[in-house]
Amino acid sequence: MRRTISIPPKYVVPSIDAVLKGQGIPEAVTPDETTTRLAQQSISIYRDHSDPTGIIMEISKPDFTEVYRGGGKNEEETPLDKIYKASDSLALFAVTVGESVSAKISGLFREDEFALGSMLDSAASLGAEMAAQALETFYAGYLKESGRFDSTVGVMQFSPGYCGWHMSGQKKLFQHLRPDEVGITLRESFLMQPLKSISGVIVVGAKEIFEFDDDFPFCSDCDTHSCRDRIEAVLNQ
Ligand code: SF4
Repeated sequence: MRRTISIPPKYVVPSIDAVLKGQGIPEAVTPDETTTRLAQQSISIYRDHSDPTGIIMEISKPDFTEVYRGGGKNEEETPLDKIYKASDSLALFAVTVGESVSAKISGLFREDEFALGSMLDSAASLGAEMAAQALETFYAGYLKESGRFDSTVGVMQFSPGYCGWHMSGQKKLFQHLRPDEVGITLRESFLMQPLKSISGVIVVGAKEIFEFDDDFPFCSDCDTHSCRDRIEAVLNQ
């Protein structure tokens, strides 16, 4: 299975609360009128300029072993290494909210509109995450239709650059997936073009394979420990 997917923009529009949280404003704090107006404006600009598109491709375990090995720079032990080996299904993916949003962000910073530019940056990052989530949902639906998904199964995505999977892993991932078909390319630095893009692997398997502790050596440098929420979401799926 290999599909390109155009995601209706209305399904990947972040909420004002999410944008404000992305700006470091805690939920318990009520922002002033100007801040709220800027958040609303950023969402409106995002909505007008986003063009969410993705590509997803199933991959066998032996082929993913090759992709995951990449340039041999991964941490010795990682959550993904254990999880994908115990998984049932794997799919590479890349998704973007498009070039126009990034150009708009750069334009706002050039015009010294830092507050709005920063809000739009948060909105676009959240939109890209929602688009990646949409591909995850698509893959789960595809597996359900073919009888390979039920309530005992969970889904989680991982990306190069996080949780011990070295950023240089992007190279092999791009060679396999070829997301240039939907306009996503890789720079020398392993950053993607458009900037607001996400790539990685969607892993599907028995829920219990996704349970892991956040005590890998690299976890001490992690600001978010977002794996805790992600594991909880899988267990409650
Ligand atoms: S603590 Fe951070 S780096 Fe460690 S596994 Fe969780 S999300 Fe990844």
